[in-house]
Amino acid sequence: MHELLWLLLPAAALSGWWIGRRGSRETGRSAGDPPPSEAYLQGLNYLLNEERDKALEVLTRMEEVGSDTAETHLALGSVFRRRGEVDRAIRIHQDLIDRPSLTRDQRTYALLALGEDYMKAGVLDRAEALFQEVVAQDAHVDQALRHLLTIYEHEGEWGQAIETARRLEGLGEGGYRVRIGQLRCEQARQAWAGGDADQARKTLRRALSADPGCARANMLLGDLEREQGRHKAAVKAYEAIGQQDPALLPEALDGLAAAYAGVGRTGRMESFLREMVTRQPDGRLMVRLANEVRQRQGTEAAIRELTLMLRRQPSLGGIRRLVAMTQSVGEPIGPREVQILLDLFEKLEAGRSRYRCRQCGFASWTLFWQCPGCRAWATLRPLDETEGM
Ligand SMILES: [Zn+2]
Repeated sequence: MHELLWLLLPAAALSGWWIGRRGSRETGRSAGDPPPSEAYLQGLNYLLNEERDKALEVLTRMEEVGSDTAETHLALGSVFRRRGEVDRAIRIHQDLIDRPSLTRDQRTYALLALGEDYMKAGVLDRAEALFQEVVAQDAHVDQALRHLLTIYEHEGEWGQAIETARRLEGLGEGGYRVRIGQLRCEQARQAWAGGDADQARKTLRRALSADPGCARANMLLGDLEREQGRHKAAVKAYEAIGQQDPALLPEALDGLAAAYAGVGRTGRMESFLREMVTRQPDGRLMVRLANEVRQRQGTEAAIRELTLMLRRQPSLGGIRRLVAMTQSVGEPIGPREVQILLDLFEKLEAGRSRYRCRQCGFASWTLFWQCPGCRAWATLRPLDETEGM
């Protein structure tokens, strides 16, 4: 996907220019521009068709015969970059920027391209400076900001990354809510590691206001409050995960148990888990609840509870715990457990795929001779019994 974006970026920009230039010639504003040659259009066509070697050949020939429009050089530069010849791409783009005849938009685009060269070469500080210049020129801002965001994330510059993500969001680009929440979490971890717990707490609150579904923020907040001896606040943060993203709750249960102990309410774990299991019949929650019941009321009670839960929702971890507990009280596996096991196997078997395409990974219950996923013939293979669960 990433590769595809790199590829489409110059081609899209070039075709945009071509249309723009044709339009401006009709209004007579740039009579000095030479019309794009046949060779140039052919080169562009090769580029669009990903025939990079042919494109390179045509464009290089154009350059040799002196038909050196800015477009030719940009196209040539992007072909070199995509072939991994980054130093040649850098030289071409740098030459272009130094030309006084370039229009403002051409120059900004060349700056962007040069930034992408340096980014590919791993020279991130150079790339960063170039993208900042592009943003300052107020053209191709969204592309430059997206690159800057990638660089700031890579360098762990969380403050700058957040600011950049917010600017992108301000440009009307969606999909930054979760990312900003995660970036705030990183920023909070940094503040916490630097000994500033208050700043970390504030930042986590901002993570939650940026993304109310950010379970990681509550996990971190719970850990932070617990470390600060504020167990009541820790309980509140951990418990909130059950509302936000119940599937992630099992990750926070050790912290929650410790926080309950901190406020002297160890019994609360059992009722909280019972409440959560009703909402999210997760195997890990069931096992945890069974362990709590076992501590308080003994193994027999735990086995009873777990059996009831597993009848509603079979889970591999749950059944393993049930068998282990039954063994531990010295009882043989009774008909009750055997029946649960049989039900479980049936459900697991019904839910699994029996065939998978070895070309595209398409999985199915029936055998197709032509894969509905990739339309290839005879690529679906039967799966082993334990595969596809
Ligand atoms: Zn397929």
